[in-house]
Amino acid sequence: MPEIRTRFAPSPTGYLHLGGLRTALYAYLFARKNGGRFILRIEDTDQEREVPGAVELIYHSMREAGLTYDEGPDVGGDYGPYIQTQRRELYLPYALQLVESGAAYPCFCTKEELLERRDAATARGEQFKYDKHCLHIPKAEAKRRMESGEPYVIRQNVPQTGVASFEDALFGHVEVPCDTLDDNVLIKADGLPTYNFANVVDDHLMKISHVMRGTEYLSSTPKYNLLYEAFGWQAPVYVHLPVVMKDATRKLSKRYGDPSFEDLLSQGFVREAIINFIALLGWCPKEEREFFTLSELVDAFDVSGLSKSPSIFNMEKLVWFNGEYIQKMDFETYLQTVTPWFDQALAGHGMDYRRLAELMQGRTEVFNRVPDKVRFLAELPEYDAELYTHKKMKTDGIVSLTSLTLARTALAGLNDFGEEALKECLMGLAVQNGLKTGQMMWPVRVAISGLESTPGGATEIAYLLGKTETLRRLDIGIAKLSAVKVKDE
Ligand code: GLU
Repeated sequence: MPEIRTRFAPSPTGYLHLGGLRTALYAYLFARKNGGRFILRIEDTDQEREVPGAVELIYHSMREAGLTYDEGPDVGGDYGPYIQTQRRELYLPYALQLVESGAAYPCFCTKEELLERRDAATARGEQFKYDKHCLHIPKAEAKRRMESGEPYVIRQNVPQTGVASFEDALFGHVEVPCDTLDDNVLIKADGLPTYNFANVVDDHLMKISHVMRGTEYLSSTPKYNLLYEAFGWQAPVYVHLPVVMKDATRKLSKRYGDPSFEDLLSQGFVREAIINFIALLGWCPKEEREFFTLSELVDAFDVSGLSKSPSIFNMEKLVWFNGEYIQKMDFETYLQTVTPWFDQALAGHGMDYRRLAELMQGRTEVFNRVPDKVRFLAELPEYDAELYTHKKMKTDGIVSLTSLTLARTALAGLNDFGEEALKECLMGLAVQNGLKTGQMMWPVRVAISGLESTPGGATEIAYLLGKTETLRRLDIGIAKLSAVKVKDE
């Protein structure tokens, strides 16, 4: 049994999108599950599409995702280099081998000539396919022209009849009639291979046993298989993965502003939650279960659980999923992660972050929502006096005004502003004045937060705000209710 070797082969054209991350993840899981090796290869032969910095971003994203590769450009390995442009010398001899055997041929047609023929085909209402014009140049003449420095490309010589096919581990037998296939360019005029050629040569030379990639390659793979046959090489096992959709009609795409992996990280999604969630987009574990660590995914992963139909990326579900992860997060990790988000709203306020974190952990779905949720501690939001009226708490403006006035006086005399002392004071105050707990606590909480719902109650918030700010906010509440009372009278 040959060694299991899978690869992730991104083109450095921008951020790692979530579909790409999923492909990488499945290739990683499959390799790890089978005790094989996982390889990173950078496919940068289409230099016009290359985005500066994208290669480093790929390394970074792979590390962030925890998808460690055993071989790759920045980690080395026995089958390098792992960046295709650094392998540029290596492809031509293989292409010439195919020229020799007749499976490929040099083509000297200029761009202008091709354009002319394309226009003519369009005018006839036909789809343009290269017409094998240069296939008919005698070999010796072609060789002479190549050696003379005349620009040329090398094309695959696809048979004009019959079918090209391959077996996909997920989609089964896939075949296409050869007469629908074009004689693709294998080596470009600049000497670099196209994807069509480089993926075959490199998968072979890097001894890749299983190729996992998007279904957009499903229809070209029969043609790649012709190349394997022409070389007499064994093709890898292919697993083409269905696309990840935004909704029923469109693909998830950076172009429409859908988030990349890095975007999600910077928005405060937890990397383990993203990975877990992405794994379930198109793969179904045998047991009914949703939460997996990366190593549990390795154990559970099985190609038979992959789905042939496109999956839909549901952002709301990811948000929920992320919240579940945050709730289970170890508290010190939560505190450390949430601190910069607290800072965004509360820097300079000297707040007890540890206590606030205790109150916030159960209320955090995504970290970037935290600043808005705690901003009321830095700045009292505008609120309506109506908020004081609460049926269940049996409070209205009148009761609230009484409670706030009592609380204002009592708290002003309190030296210990700890939660216990605050609680004792406010509860005692309620009892002494024949008020229900809610009739005291609701108005105080409204006055010091301006919100209907808050992390923690009146005593926790008063403690976090400290005495001066608490009294200031109570005064605002009293003034607000007094104004309403005057108006009503
Ligand atoms: N470079 C190709 C891409 O980024 C990879 C396709 C493959 O895995 O063979 O889409």
